[in-house]
Amino acid sequence: MRLPRPLENLIDQLQKLPSIGPKTAQRLALYILRLPSEEVSQLARALIDVQERVFPCSKCGNLTDSDPCPICSNPARLGNSLCIVEEASDILSIERTGYNGRYFVLNRSFKLMDDSDPAEMNVQPLLRILNEGKVQEVILALNPTIDGEVVSRFLATAISGHNVKVTRLAYGLPIGGDIEFTDEITLRRALEGRKEF
Ligand SMILES: [Zn+2]
Repeated sequence: MRLPRPLENLIDQLQKLPSIGPKTAQRLALYILRLPSEEVSQLARALIDVQERVFPCSKCGNLTDSDPCPICSNPARLGNSLCIVEEASDILSIERTGYNGRYFVLNRSFKLMDDSDPAEMNVQPLLRILNEGKVQEVILALNPTIDGEVVSRFLATAISGHNVKVTRLAYGLPIGGDIEFTDEITLRRALEGRKEF
């Protein structure tokens, strides 16, 4: 049986979203079909709104609807600490830790698979912030992947000479984890990053 074309089209669009397979797409499409028209309009408006009104902050790259973003324009945030993350969504996670410094979002997931060269990364916006002279510590909070490692090393080199301390997140054991089942790289890093008790 062939589905009505508009329904098929909606399923196709939903299927393009991450983690949405054909069955979930179909279920969502049928759910949307049964929604009151007012709710469908709100959903459609929210989709357009997010596209039109949310953009990267011109200073830090955080997603925002006002420029500079609320973090950059908050005078209570510490200007001496700059945390570098890969994606704006990483900020939400770091914020939950109570970190009160500022951020810089790379906003492009660097992938070695794409044959990209970290030397092609535009580090000028980052160097501009460092040249203001307020930052004393740069925290590299990139993902613990090979790509994250390569980019971290590249950034550490690009930053050197700016008279700032460069640190990175410690690797360690997950809370509630089990040493017996921890991979050797994580365990070795946890051992290297051990702290006095
Ligand atoms: Zn900002």
